[in-house]
Amino acid sequence: MELKYVSTRDANEVVSASQAILKGLANGGGLFVPTTIPKLDVSLEDLSKMSYQQTAYEVMKLFLTDFTESELKTCIERAYDSKFDTDEIAPLVYADGAYYLELFHGSTIAFKDMALSILPHLMITSARKNNVKNDIVILTATSGDTGKAALAGFAGVEGTRIIVFYPKDGVSPIQKQQMVTQLGDNTLVVGIDGNFDQAQTGVKQMFADKEMAAELDAKGFQFSSANSINIGRLVPQIVYYVYSYAKLVENEKIKPGDKINVVVPTGNFGNILAAFYAKNMGLPIAKLICASNENKVLYDFFSTGVYDKNRDFVLTNSPSMDILISSNLERLIYRIAGEDSVKNAELMRQLNETGKYEITPEMKAQLDEFYGNYTDEAETAKTIHDLYEKTGYVIDTHTAVAAGVYAKYKADTNDDTTTVIASTASPFKFARSVMSAIDSKYESMEDFALVDELSKVAGVEVPKAVEEIRDAEVRHKTICAVDEMPQVVRDFLV
Ligand SMILES: *Cc1c(COP(=O)(O)O)cnc(C)c1O
Repeated sequence: MELKYVSTRDANEVVSASQAILKGLANGGGLFVPTTIPKLDVSLEDLSKMSYQQTAYEVMKLFLTDFTESELKTCIERAYDSKFDTDEIAPLVYADGAYYLELFHGSTIAFKDMALSILPHLMITSARKNNVKNDIVILTATSGDTGKAALAGFAGVEGTRIIVFYPKDGVSPIQKQQMVTQLGDNTLVVGIDGNFDQAQTGVKQMFADKEMAAELDAKGFQFSSANSINIGRLVPQIVYYVYSYAKLVENEKIKPGDKINVVVPTGNFGNILAAFYAKNMGLPIAKLICASNENKVLYDFFSTGVYDKNRDFVLTNSPSMDILISSNLERLIYRIAGEDSVKNAELMRQLNETGKYEITPEMKAQLDEFYGNYTDEAETAKTIHDLYEKTGYVIDTHTAVAAGVYAKYKADTNDDTTTVIASTASPFKFARSVMSAIDSKYESMEDFALVDELSKVAGVEVPKAVEEIRDAEVRHKTICAVDEMPQVVRDFLV
């Protein structure tokens, strides 16, 4: 049976999986959600014997029902190959009472590779299926990691262009170097005078601009999104939660059916939403622990039922979580509103116009399975420091937010359920913050000297992704104001 996707803001906009992947955002600004969440149809025992790729097929076939078996398997094989530096793709590492699910073994050493390695293949397959003749133009706003992962995924892919906007002072030096050295004639990287939310809003406005769409269509182009609002990002992210559970079964850490908790360092709410979908597929997950940094809109939301982005934006050492509008939360809101698109659209209108909304007590009652908390900058650094001192294991700043929040959760609840922490970036990507947390003597060192020092301290080789950019040429130097974004796009698409 074919699974359809519906807009969170318009019950009449119903499309196939491949159409949802191609469109990214629904007309009228809604997000596509599956009309029902399918149940896993293989047992947890059977899953425990599967490779990452096999698990990916078992999960994704249930969501992307208009893909043939061979189409989907081809996409999976092309995505999860030797670009990853381990056959396990997403290894689990035990340290100090929790399992770290390392999602950073792909080409840009952050978890966004998990989805963005496969998205270009899903998108090209979707375009073919729907007789699309235009070139697909990927338009992306990034707080650091999405940009490079999307560039790496789409660079050189025929029939596609990719344009990435990043806040010029809001990403780490290594993140920036990774992006501005990107190869490929079909790539463009642009810094904006503004923060991530402004970049994201600018991109959303271009997606909603009908005149611009018509103008580009005439030139043989159409927009699509690689942001985590694309269902083609969300679905591949469900896979690793299922896989991590299956690995715990395989290694006899849990029995099939035992519950686990999942902790996710959260920004745009995509990664934790994937865990929520995994739970709804029947994966035995107890608590979904949502970890925020000092931009703790989500913590406040889970505590009070009020989402309020009217506050100072804080630049932290976990920049990929410096977000005040968590776009994917809309999918959860739609769900707890009883899949009522009118109700959801009204809340999103309030968010758009006043920067805040409040959910009803009935909606809030459905959020029991979530626990939200946050760590400040000092707590995040201390978490890195203490874990290293205790175990020798080095984690990045984003993962440290999750580990710090998990410690608070345990102190609050005494819950000793087996727990998986999503480890979203390699410490090498944030070497300066990580090394400063370990010892202040590193503060004066150069970025790449720090990378070498980190390699010694952690006993881990410098990842290829970092080696590659050491001496690479800067190819992308454009900086623009927020309101110049559409012109930059027009200039590139000639
Ligand atoms: C994107 C990102 C996050 C946040 O993930 P969301 O899906 O946006 O919530 C956390 N950590 C790292 C390293 C990231 O790149």
